[in-house]
Amino acid sequence: MKILLMGPPGAGKGTQAERLTELLKIPHISTGDMFRKAQKEGTELGLKAKTYMEQGQLVPDEVTIGIVRERLAEDDCKIGFLLDGFPRTVQQADALEQILADLGTQLDAVINIEVDKDFLLERLTGRRVCKSCGATYHIKFNAPKNENVCDKCGGELYQRNDDTLETVASRLDVYEAQTAPLIQYYVAKNLIKSIDGSQAVEKVSADICAALGR
Ligand SMILES: [Zn+2]
Repeated sequence: MKILLMGPPGAGKGTQAERLTELLKIPHISTGDMFRKAQKEGTELGLKAKTYMEQGQLVPDEVTIGIVRERLAEDDCKIGFLLDGFPRTVQQADALEQILADLGTQLDAVINIEVDKDFLLERLTGRRVCKSCGATYHIKFNAPKNENVCDKCGGELYQRNDDTLETVASRLDVYEAQTAPLIQYYVAKNLIKSIDGSQAVEKVSADICAALGR
């Protein structure tokens, strides 16, 4: 089964990707992993990507698409795969379609985990991290016994800059603006399966499986 997994930051995409790939016995192909693998193996494209990343620049489309092409052509992807983090734009989606056509295949489904923005804001801005040991908490869903004190080591808890209301809200806006055309693209191809991501982890997984007919 060839699947693309989409969802905003905080929607639990990572957890669902893990569960799905285990259940369906297919590789989880995330952009980050692909870049790391290509760099480790020292492929030409991997080294190119590394140069951009080291300079803090975005990796250009042609490099990213090339790395995706190399990865999807590997043997373990023949039975299927779960793509995560690519494509991010309609242009990349077109490139993906071409890559798959060249490999004689196509996507079976695009899972879109939908979560209400207010819910995501609450989930993400409530995160707290221990300064000493890095343990993570949530002020509502996984609160420490004593406010701002780590249960494990007694360290002080803090809110990462990434998790402030302003940063999270702008990240969600960027995501929405970026992916709205992509969702339309896959709706038009009849591939989108929308899943309510505000439910419990197990229920989200069950809904995804049902949508995939598993
Ligand atoms: Zn701690």
